[in-house]
Amino acid sequence: MEQDEELLLAVLNSEPVIDGRRSDHLDGEPGDRLVRSWGGTGSAGERDELRRVRSALHAAIRSSDAEALTVLAEVVSPAVQVPHVTSDGLSWRLTAPADRLLAVQAVAAWSSVVARFPGRVRACANGQCNLFLVDHSRPGTAKWCSMAACGNRMKARAHAERARGRGRLSSADDAGDGRAQ
Ligand SMILES: [Zn+2]
Repeated sequence: MEQDEELLLAVLNSEPVIDGRRSDHLDGEPGDRLVRSWGGTGSAGERDELRRVRSALHAAIRSSDAEALTVLAEVVSPAVQVPHVTSDGLSWRLTAPADRLLAVQAVAAWSSVVARFPGRVRACANGQCNLFLVDHSRPGTAKWCSMAACGNRMKARAHAERARGRGRLSSADDAGDGRAQ
């Protein structure tokens, strides 16, 4: 996986739903490790910027939300590309205020991944899942964050719903489903 895709998914998927509850992996020690592994400072301000970008990216990917795009534009506004010349030639380095840099890099990562894989960055089709995927399947029909976590579960549910439509299964089939029908 390319680094930009890895960073994008790390940020997008840092707010998973575990046992029906949304948890924030940018919090506490794990959050500190996460941001430092991406070269961040670990400051509270940096994580606030990342949370802001995360929720804007979620909305932008789910529904091309205009307000979300305004937030992303605001986040990247102080960013500058600085030229750097070595014997290998010219390269450009993205710079921004310290607390903002990682959030800017996440937006840049989103931009380069959607440019490379148009229409392939999407939310998991399980409405109770808050994870995202980059669809690398040849037909471009991948729907789940993972087959193990959501694919099989949703398929089993669809199967149960079809079976119920045919023959009235007992309501015990809904146990553990977590969603009132
Ligand atoms: Zn999922």
